[in-house]
Amino acid sequence: MFSRIPKKLIRPLVLDLHAYVPGEQPKIKGLIKLNTNENPYPPSPKVLAAVRAATDGRLRLYPSPTAQRLREKLAKLHRCAPENIIVGNGSDEMLALAVRAFVEPKPEAKSRREKSALAAATVQYFTPSYSLYPVLADTHGAARNAVALKPDFSMPGVAELKRDKKWNFNAALTFVTTPNAPGGRGYRTTDLEKLCRAQQGVVVLDEAYVDFAKENAMKLALKFPHVLVARTFSKAYSLCFQRVGYFAGPAELIAALHKIRDSYNVNGLGQIAAEATLGDLKFYRANFQKIIATRTWLSRELTKLGFRVLPSETNFILAQPPLFPASDWLQKLRDRKILVRWFNLPEVSRYLRITVGTPDEAGALVKAARGILK
Ligand SMILES: *Cc1c(COP(=O)(O)O)cnc(C)c1O
Repeated sequence: MFSRIPKKLIRPLVLDLHAYVPGEQPKIKGLIKLNTNENPYPPSPKVLAAVRAATDGRLRLYPSPTAQRLREKLAKLHRCAPENIIVGNGSDEMLALAVRAFVEPKPEAKSRREKSALAAATVQYFTPSYSLYPVLADTHGAARNAVALKPDFSMPGVAELKRDKKWNFNAALTFVTTPNAPGGRGYRTTDLEKLCRAQQGVVVLDEAYVDFAKENAMKLALKFPHVLVARTFSKAYSLCFQRVGYFAGPAELIAALHKIRDSYNVNGLGQIAAEATLGDLKFYRANFQKIIATRTWLSRELTKLGFRVLPSETNFILAQPPLFPASDWLQKLRDRKILVRWFNLPEVSRYLRITVGTPDEAGALVKAARGILK
């Protein structure tokens, strides 16, 4: 009926926007899914029981608008106050709220030369890192400042950043994925602390994969007035489906974020699932150990086959495959019913990002790679 929708109804910023591209969730059954860093193990039986028990007539009621009980439990876990925690519809929502709360839209062309106005409108991040950050900056009409990691995807030190004219110590908001994605490297808390000390604006340490790493930087969020740590129940806690993530950090920043979030931003079953998760952390710690062991095995086997595997402190590995371009490998593996991720970006287009699955899934991947190389 409305065959031609007039473009003028839509803001130019939105018309021009390159939206975030999520990994494929295939409709075909029987594929081995190693493309979106989901946990290969299901949630704890206690979590499933808690969600089932809550699925009744109470679904008609609004959930806690502040996820009160969950925030209290998280505060206990991290030894802070509930005022230091805000929960969201996945940590992606938290990242978007941070942009809206701390970053001005880009100034008009006239004043663009003013350095401080531009810094106030800048979202800064290393590249390659989480590909959502530029989308969030663009959506907000903010300036983005993508600064290259070192060639081995390690993080430049503060002294190096001072020499790099591009890095902005006054950027309103700086995102650091730690451990990094898609590189997989873990960063040392002492290095992150030096970076935090040097930044004037807000720093978000995005710890989506931290449970698979050697160190975490939670103490920085509870020490500095301008540092937030982002965590999620998605990856390590097998809850992607329920969409629960959070920020921990200084009460003033957290209060600012609460002001602008949707009133009921965390769905009720998500709150219940996350609370039950915190009641069974032992179950999950055993899973982390299994995934780390499989990661070690997979890295070794792929290295034997001629892959160049980068060190990983996450539940995935980044690996440069031999013989064919990575994009060909993507297809060849898919032909053998294995899904991995390939990013068509200059810094990482030679690599495949492979989620660490169960030992059986990792075994199937190695077998398929052997077949491809024959
Ligand atoms: C998966 C991921 C997130 C988002 O997780 P959700 O809580 O599911 O929104 C955030 N940051 C990084 C780096 C991720 O890989």
